[in-house]
Amino acid sequence: MLNSIKNLSVLCLFLLLCVLQSCSKIYMKKYSELNVNDILEHDSFQWKHVIAGNTILYYEENSYASRNIKQIITQSKLNMNNALSILHITQYDHEIHSFFLESRQKMKEIIGFESNGAAYVKSHIMLDVFAEKLKTNTTHELMHIISYNLWGWTEPWLNEGLAVCSDDSWHGYKLDELVSYLMSKGVLIPIADLKIDFYNKNDLITYPQVGSFTKYLIEKYGIDNYRKVWTHGMESIPQVLLHPLDEIEKEWKEFLKEKPIKHIDYKYLK
Ligand SMILES: [Zn+2]
Repeated sequence: MLNSIKNLSVLCLFLLLCVLQSCSKIYMKKYSELNVNDILEHDSFQWKHVIAGNTILYYEENSYASRNIKQIITQSKLNMNNALSILHITQYDHEIHSFFLESRQKMKEIIGFESNGAAYVKSHIMLDVFAEKLKTNTTHELMHIISYNLWGWTEPWLNEGLAVCSDDSWHGYKLDELVSYLMSKGVLIPIADLKIDFYNKNDLITYPQVGSFTKYLIEKYGIDNYRKVWTHGMESIPQVLLHPLDEIEKEWKEFLKEKPIKHIDYKYLK
């Protein structure tokens, strides 16, 4: 009896650590959602805002974002159109709160850890660092918000895959070209292994990899079939796409081989 209580305690501690660890990664705050008033009433920030469509864009006075607000408005509209186009929908009406921060440190003051970007999907909040040398106002976080609210939760590799795919680039390189380069270096992870423990793998490899694979799935099999995979998970691929996963993966890699890679210098592999 004592042993089983001890084992139960160990199991509980393990589960708690898993939750804490997954929360420390970008975006996945499934367990504690941030409210927009938590940010607006934060002592360290004086927010100004403008409205672009159904998105409220918040920025700080005298910040880099305030000096480039026209560019932010234009990019936000492009991001929305991009997300709608990928999902084959014509509009997404829910109000979205989009915050622009000066640094990763400022991000930490709000979300509790340093990050380039974050999305709180249930509250329709996204936060991006927007500074001279680091601009992350891409479609990524917006895609997390829209895909969750339209399609629900999914496996992490699918969730991040769609968000990365929506930007079609990674660290300044075209997505497929970078992943072709990673393939040439032999560092890609078998797709089947990405279903497990995704957020504890090397995100500088896994994120572009699932982004490129997602792009391939959507372009080859269509968004409706992709959505079915989103809903039912990796296991459903043979039934939904009518081909086994390893066969699709092999074809995707053949497709990647055609991509130019000579110009790529991905410093994170060194
Ligand atoms: Zn993400």
